[in-house]
Amino acid sequence: MDFRFSEKEEAFRQEVRRWLGENVPREWLEYDAGLWEENEETWKISREFQRKLGQKGWLAPAYPREYGGSQMSHMERLVLAEELAYNRAPVSIEVEISVNWVGPALMLFGSDEQKKKYLTEVARGEALFCLGYSEPNAGSDLASLQTRAVEDGDYYVINGQKTWCSFAHYAKYCWLGARTDPDAPKHRGISMFVLDMDTPGITVRPLINLLDCHSFNEVFFDDVRVPKSALIGQKNNGWFQLVMALDFERSLIGTAAANQRIIEDLVQYAIDNQGKNGVDPILKDELAQLAVETEVLRMMCYRIAWMYSKEIHPSYESSMSLLFSSELLRHLANVGMRVLGHYSELDRGTKWTVASARALRTYLSCLSIGVGGGSNEIQRNIVAMRGLGLPRQQ
Ligand SMILES: Cc1cc2nc3c(=O)[nH]c(=O)nc-3n(C[C@H](O)[C@H](O)[C@H](O)COP(=O)(O)OP(=O)(O)OC[C@H]3O[C@@H](n4cnc5c(N)ncnc54)[C@H](O)[C@@H]3O)c2cc1C
Repeated sequence: MDFRFSEKEEAFRQEVRRWLGENVPREWLEYDAGLWEENEETWKISREFQRKLGQKGWLAPAYPREYGGSQMSHMERLVLAEELAYNRAPVSIEVEISVNWVGPALMLFGSDEQKKKYLTEVARGEALFCLGYSEPNAGSDLASLQTRAVEDGDYYVINGQKTWCSFAHYAKYCWLGARTDPDAPKHRGISMFVLDMDTPGITVRPLINLLDCHSFNEVFFDDVRVPKSALIGQKNNGWFQLVMALDFERSLIGTAAANQRIIEDLVQYAIDNQGKNGVDPILKDELAQLAVETEVLRMMCYRIAWMYSKEIHPSYESSMSLLFSSELLRHLANVGMRVLGHYSELDRGTKWTVASARALRTYLSCLSIGVGGGSNEIQRNIVAMRGLGLPRQQ
């Protein structure tokens, strides 16, 4: 594997950097919204920025042109993802869900008509998806989901409840897993649908997260009638589609660059406030360790981007990367709290707050990384079974 980027890719990195320098809104950087911290105001800024990226063909850069993308290589997509993350552009999980998790699944399993409609809207920044997977009694054991879709003439009628649906209150569409054959073994009776969130019978109720923000929701389906054209791919083949979409979800490629930026900020803070010779040696040691682990994560991200470029589907590799990155972020957040000392405990709103309370907010939000997309225990199970070939049960 050649680790160097080509001249064209390096030139593209400079172009992206320049463009971000001119286009990331100042209010956004001043507010400094972290993960799962959206509010009405920041949401407006980020959606506007995303539409601008979409118009430039940079929101879904690797999508084919016919679906609103720029048909860039996956290495160029990686370069763009790194720069967006490092420069803290207003592009977060909501874009990942639509562009990089649901989009590629639709690319594989959707009809031509479905692809044209949904992918184009997503690539232009006009539509967001939410994920209708988890239920009160089906999280890690997702194949136990009980939301039903029953055929009725030209329609499916959907009844059930989903939970932890991120951004369902903003989403135009839901990528939904529902049971279409209750008598089949649980993995074989599921189908995937795309639902318009405005369909009568859908109720969205907020769930407030640890940061006191409204990022996820419960979603109820009461006799929701959708045309049969809402079915994606083959009926009862949904589990396969869902697992593929989860692999896409676990293969974030910009995370190492986001971590690098956090480490750089912490190092700068430590130097500014404790002096080059005064930084606690234990913290120095930990920051060095974090820098090493971030480089390991970067290699995992590059490997996944390379796999995409060779049209190899990342499976356990995605789980490995998500597991490693979530544990790394928790470590990073812990060290961040110690570097800032007692200042780290202050939230926004006092004159003593340091860097918009980013350390505190990362510390709180990182608890959910390592649960969303499947908990770390589940990722370990996948690496053990799919990666190492260990048996499912003793
Ligand atoms: C920030 C965030 C965003 C989310 N967004 C969405 C979304 O948009 N759409 C959606 O559908 N869901 C979403 N989720 C839900 C997420 O997918 C589930 O929380 C996750 O799959 C775990 O399911 P659970 O909460 O039911 O926990 P459970 O499955 O009840 O697990 C509880 C504990 O038991 C452990 N455990 C369970 N089974 C095993 C096993 N076989 N081996 C070892 N340990 C096991 C788990 O690791 C966990 O520690 C989100 C979650 C978070 C935190």
